[in-house]
Amino acid sequence: MSEFPTFEQAMQQMQGMLEKLPEMAPPMQMPPQQRADRATAVMVQNLDARFGTYLESCIHCGHCAEACHFFQVTGDPKYTPVHKLDLLRRTYRRESGPFRWLYRLFSQPITAEELADWKELAFDSCTMCGRCTLICPMGIDIAAMVHVVRESISAAGLAPPEIRAVEAEQATQDTVFGASPEKLKEVIGMLEQQAGIEIPLDREQAEMLVLTSGLDIMMNPRGLLATAKVLNHLGADWTLRSDGYESINFGAQVCDKEIHKDIARRRIDTAKKIGAKTLLLCECGHTYPALRWAEGIYQEPLPFEVIYISDYLGKQVQAGRLKLRRDGRSVTFHDPCKTGRVGGIFDQPRAVLEAMGDEVCETPDHKMTNFCCGGGGGGFLLNNLPLRSKVYQMKMQQFDATGADTVVTACGSCRLNFATAKMMLESERPIESLVELAADHLPDDEGWRRPG
Ligand code: SF4
Ligand code: SF4
Repeated sequence: MSEFPTFEQAMQQMQGMLEKLPEMAPPMQMPPQQRADRATAVMVQNLDARFGTYLESCIHCGHCAEACHFFQVTGDPKYTPVHKLDLLRRTYRRESGPFRWLYRLFSQPITAEELADWKELAFDSCTMCGRCTLICPMGIDIAAMVHVVRESISAAGLAPPEIRAVEAEQATQDTVFGASPEKLKEVIGMLEQQAGIEIPLDREQAEMLVLTSGLDIMMNPRGLLATAKVLNHLGADWTLRSDGYESINFGAQVCDKEIHKDIARRRIDTAKKIGAKTLLLCECGHTYPALRWAEGIYQEPLPFEVIYISDYLGKQVQAGRLKLRRDGRSVTFHDPCKTGRVGGIFDQPRAVLEAMGDEVCETPDHKMTNFCCGGGGGGFLLNNLPLRSKVYQMKMQQFDATGADTVVTACGSCRLNFATAKMMLESERPIESLVELAADHLPDDEGWRRPG
């Protein structure tokens, strides 16, 4: 696949586009009181018995602070996860708590200025990684409550403009980063011509619907090519559809339930239309929870299985259907938060690495306690490099501690973050993609079969 730019080269090309995002965000003018009212309404709507119990049961032990990479690298108390919930806690006490009549006497309602200040705490310094939730001894789902804070800031029109720009593009045009159906067709044509790989598009019926991403289409077609190579090699009956190919869901990123649901619904409709039994998600971590539990959103069972690419590859290896060339390197695997801590997909990617004869050297914190790449939850789009660079440093130190030659992950956003970190910290260690490695280790490059 050497005719395509490397991930780092493509990322540099894309940097200019990312820098223009703030000016592409739709204007969100509204009076300050309206912003505060909207945010309060969202919080009150979400404050059910579960969240009320959570907010009442914090024992202020501080364990969540130690769990959060932003607190760990700065030591600044404002980055304590439990502090990020202060606006929600105040609203709970004033509007829903058992002593609300008392709290209203000596507390103030939240203001637009506070919401604007909280943007940094809920977006720039929270990647929705869920590590604090895992660590809390009281079982408080802190990340779920930061999600509500994000949702309320979004309702007030104060979400970061970078994220709002992409969310608006996806809500109105169903594209991300300009990756239109025409662009998809162009990329597929280029891949088929240059690599001689058939990529089935718009088949009317197929066992498997594959979702790719704007990141892969616009900057890393290697990811799509690698997926196609592996699926064809396995003889899978699959297709991409130009009416439903995007796995990224910015409704989920910005925590706008309606947009999240609307985008997920479009993908589900496409999979249903072609009679798919499997919806395969490409390397884009947050897409997994955005679709994997969609039946919970719709209160109806989905007629297909939703499976993430690293899970799929691992299961093919474990079943003996996917055999890979062995070259025995020393690697470390970075578990994307959404597929690992949230989805429990740990053994499958490691099975793929072991099938290539690799020695997997784990970071000091790995699997369930792995630290986020530093740019999850849409953070990789934000102009907050000074803060993120501190997290990068910590991650790079953890990679150094393994002594591994290379880092492998299964998420385009994590790779994007690490590529930025590599440039900033002048690190030489490669950051590789699991599916691309699997494709490069197929026993016989010519051995792929025609899909279907
Ligand atoms: S870890 Fe849980 S109980 Fe302890 S301070 Fe954080 S939220 Fe409260
Ligand atoms: S979800 Fe992750 S980034 Fe957000 S507060 Fe918790 S530990 Fe920190």
